[in-house]
Amino acid sequence: MKFMMATPEKMKAALLTAYNAPIEIRDVPRPEPIADEVLVKIEASGVCFTDVHIWKGEHASPNPLPLIMGHEGVGTVVKVGSSGGRLKVGERVGIGYVHSACGHCRECQTGGENYCADFYATGYSTPGCFAEYVVLKQDWANVIPEGIDPAEAAPLMCAGAAAYASFLKTGVKAGETIAIFGMGGLGQYCVQIAKLAGARVIAVDISPEKLAMAKALGADEGVIADAGAGETIQTLGGARGCVNFAPVGATWQMMLHACNPRARIVMTGVPAQELAFYAHEVIAPGLTVVGNSASNRQEMRELLNLAATGRIKGVIVRRPFSQINEAIADLIAGRVEGRTVLDME
Ligand SMILES: [Zn+2]
Ligand SMILES: [Zn+2]
Repeated sequence: MKFMMATPEKMKAALLTAYNAPIEIRDVPRPEPIADEVLVKIEASGVCFTDVHIWKGEHASPNPLPLIMGHEGVGTVVKVGSSGGRLKVGERVGIGYVHSACGHCRECQTGGENYCADFYATGYSTPGCFAEYVVLKQDWANVIPEGIDPAEAAPLMCAGAAAYASFLKTGVKAGETIAIFGMGGLGQYCVQIAKLAGARVIAVDISPEKLAMAKALGADEGVIADAGAGETIQTLGGARGCVNFAPVGATWQMMLHACNPRARIVMTGVPAQELAFYAHEVIAPGLTVVGNSASNRQEMRELLNLAATGRIKGVIVRRPFSQINEAIADLIAGRVEGRTVLDME
């Protein structure tokens, strides 16, 4: 018989008890995996700007508080539910924003589970990863390949996956040019992914320091995001595809001007403003504008396989779990260079 370490009945969890109020780390009952679920002991948990929106109540949970946020969790399976499945105790898995989805709608059956009308969002509509333990459904746990550190893997679960799926949607191929707007965590991942795919990368941001970082990560050109950025990109040959990760409306006109005919604009960052344009600006050059939210599981798998080669590195700020409030305050103040990851141990 195998000796198993007993899992405690309680766990520490970061509770959002009121919007816009400090998060409280408290002892709460540890969840128990049922049926097709696994219990995961979290090792590293990334903090995302979506957590800030939830914390502020701008993207309030559909459930009554308290809520455990966090949708970039990586840890090891410590217990398997009664129906068993492919996952074994000791395997390292990660969970992103899509906790689970209906599995039988058109989107779920055609690789679009992240667009399912009935999906559960980790740390929003179901308990998340700012806790010592979380329960996942077997089918939705992303197996982390050997060779990726848990703190490196955590931001891939949301930021990396969204950057990868956004890049694929540009349709940009080897030798073609992509302009990437916004050099935060997602932009930094997208630069590396696009370079690995053989694209020529133009990084765009308001900050010269962030452009320097983008170049260090492999970007071929850096363009300051001022009103003339689109024209500057045209002088560099224009773009076959643009991705926007900046949560501001100002990049929209820059992208329209940066695009070559029949280019694609992928919208991933969510500006608060309405975006205005004359229809002819999209019609005459035959542009395609497409939205992207999170990723599906296959895209996640591809990204993890790429990361396992060691060629995608996050710019990561590590903090102990106990500093979750400071981590959120730093994100709000724009003091974070890349992605924040909470160390759970
Ligand atoms: Zn996120
Ligand atoms: Zn569905």
